[in-house]
Amino acid sequence: MRKLPIFFLIDLSESMVGEPIELVRKGMESLIRSLKKNPYALETVWIEIIGFAGKARTIEPFEELALFYPPEFPIGGGTSIGSGLEFLMKEIDANVKCSTAETKGDWKPLVFIFTDGQPTDDFQAAVSRWQSGYKRKCQTLLATIGNVISHDFISSIADDAIQLENDKEECFDSYFKWLTDSIASSSVQASEGIEPTAKVGELECGLSKIDLTKQERVPASVDDNYSVILGACQKTQEKYLIKYKKGVEIFDGDFNNFDKVYRLEGAYRLDYKKYKDLSVQAETSSVDAKYLQGIPTCPYCGSKHAFAVCMCGGVFCVDLDTDMQTCGWCGTTARYEATCEDFNIERRQG
Ligand SMILES: [Zn+2]
Ligand SMILES: [Zn+2]
Repeated sequence: MRKLPIFFLIDLSESMVGEPIELVRKGMESLIRSLKKNPYALETVWIEIIGFAGKARTIEPFEELALFYPPEFPIGGGTSIGSGLEFLMKEIDANVKCSTAETKGDWKPLVFIFTDGQPTDDFQAAVSRWQSGYKRKCQTLLATIGNVISHDFISSIADDAIQLENDKEECFDSYFKWLTDSIASSSVQASEGIEPTAKVGELECGLSKIDLTKQERVPASVDDNYSVILGACQKTQEKYLIKYKKGVEIFDGDFNNFDKVYRLEGAYRLDYKKYKDLSVQAETSSVDAKYLQGIPTCPYCGSKHAFAVCMCGGVFCVDLDTDMQTCGWCGTTARYEATCEDFNIERRQG
C-alpha cells in the first residue's frame, strides 16, 4: 500500500502559551478522532507531528493513522522556522519512500505548517535547501494568525497559505475542520489512484486565503504582538510564563505611545525541562514595566502577585503574608517593597 505521508510542523513558541496551544491540542485531537472513522484515510494516511520553537523536535513520531494518538504540546522559546524545516527534511528522508523505475513509492507528502509569528532565526540556508530539494516533492500549506508574515517568505516555503483572523476558538475550529476535510479528500484521491492535493477551496468563518501573488507590506513591528516573561514560583521553584498582548489604546494620553501598551492575558504553568529542550540561548530584549498592564496570579501557589523582580533579574511570585521574599531563581532572600519607579524586564523572543 502506498502511504499518504502527512507532516505537521507546528510553532510552539512562547506566544502560543495559554489558549492558542490548548486550541491546537483540542483541534488535533478532533482531527485524529474524525479521520479514524474514515476508511479511506485509515487505509493510506501516516502522520508525524514536529514542533519548533528555538529548536525542533518530534512531538509524535511518524505512524499510521490507526495507531496514531494526539499528543500534548510543550512550549519553547523562539521561532526558528529554519530548524523546523531542517528537521522536517530529515524526517521526510527517513520516512518517505521515493518512486524508482521499478516500484511506485509513497504519495507526495502533504506538509501543513502552522506559525503565529515572524521567524526569529537565520533561516536562509534551510529555505534554500528546502527549495532546491524538497519543495516540489511536497505539497505545502502554511497557516498563520493575522497578517504577520511577508508574502515573499511564505512563497519561498509553501504552495498556498491561509490566515486565521485571530487566535480565538472559532478560527482554530475552522482551521482544524478545514485540515480534516482536506486530508479526508486527499485520501479519497489516493484511493482512486490520483496524486492527492490539499486544495484551498471553500473556507469557513474566521479563515481566508492569503493571496501570494499580491505584494503586500506587512507591518514591521509584528513580532511585537506579545510580551512574554518567564517567572519562577518562590514556593515550588516551578517556572511559568506571563503573557501580555499588545493593546491598541493610547497610553497616558501620549499619542506616540499608543502601540506600546500590553495587557495581561495570564500566567501559565510551564514544563521547564521541555521548554529548555525546545529553546536556544538567545539575546533577549527588555520591556519597560510601565507598559505592562495587569498583575498575574502565580499558577502554582496562587499568590496574587506573580511579578516581582529580583536583583538577579529573575521574575518570581511574592508571598503576600510575609515581608521577606525568596527569589525562585537564585534563592536570595530579601525584603521587597513595591516600587513605582520604571524598571526594565527581560522579555522572551516569542
Ligand atoms: Zn508561586
Ligand atoms: Zn534572584
